[in-house]
Amino acid sequence: SVLLEMKNIHKVYPNGTVANRGVNLVVHEGEIHALVGENGAGKSTLMKILFGLEAPTEGEILYKGEKVRFNGPRDAIGQGLGMVHQHFMLAPSLTVSENIVLGDEPRRGFLNLFRDRKKEIEEIEELIRKFGLKLSPEASVESISVGQKQRVEILKVLYRGAKLIILDEPTAVLTPQETDELFDSIKSLVDQNYTIIFITHKLREVMEISDRITVLKAGKTIQTLITKDTNQEE
Ligand code: ADP
Ligand code: ADP
Repeated sequence: SVLLEMKNIHKVYPNGTVANRGVNLVVHEGEIHALVGENGAGKSTLMKILFGLEAPTEGEILYKGEKVRFNGPRDAIGQGLGMVHQHFMLAPSLTVSENIVLGDEPRRGFLNLFRDRKKEIEEIEELIRKFGLKLSPEASVESISVGQKQRVEILKVLYRGAKLIILDEPTAVLTPQETDELFDSIKSLVDQNYTIIFITHKLREVMEISDRITVLKAGKTIQTLITKDTNQEE
């Protein structure tokens, strides 16, 4: 079934730049949906509109069948969306589990004193097991590899309950082996009915793992392709 639909999205920035000029994006539950386009094609703008960081000039968003307009990332996250950025936002002096629990506000101050650390670590270990993400919750973030840092970012959004996860150029900083491991984790996520939007400009890579591809060019959707027989009703 359709989880997210962005219909006829237009965005004109205050300086007159037209970033989206009629974009349509239909994402089905449990699929890996690649959003492909060169730099400047309008991908980030579309995702900012989805997360309520920018208002669309025109167009509408349907999520779980209802018309929505998220009021910013906090609201979007509360509704089950998660975004993993290309640039990691981790506190290097803290552990993996501390980064996961504290999210993007690692220094929330005295409230930290009241957390049940044992329970948190158990929950995180459970998530790590569930998705085959090799990682030690008590390792210091300074000491782990780039691929592991990315896993921490993915765990951060899973921990917050994300069901629709947007990965922004996730392979940009990975080695080929880390890329393979990431793809395995993504497959394990969709097997458990998570939905992935995979932003990239590497078409070959996308052909390998995507169920559907939306191609953006100069702010317009030029193509939606189905690359696999996913047994999903249309
Ligand atoms: P992509 O993510 O595909 O690289 P973007 O959505 O970042 O594309 O950018 C689409 C176009 O909008 C580009 O021409 C970019 O320079 C422009 N743009 C992005 N953000 C802004 C902004 N805040 N103000 C004005 N123009 C912007
Ligand atoms: P990234 O590549 O990490 O996504 P960008 O370089 O695309 O970052 O954008 C960084 C910030 O600058 C974003 O907030 C974006 O909205 C803004 N931006 C991008 N292009 C323009 C532009 N032409 N004019 C004004 N702001 C822009």
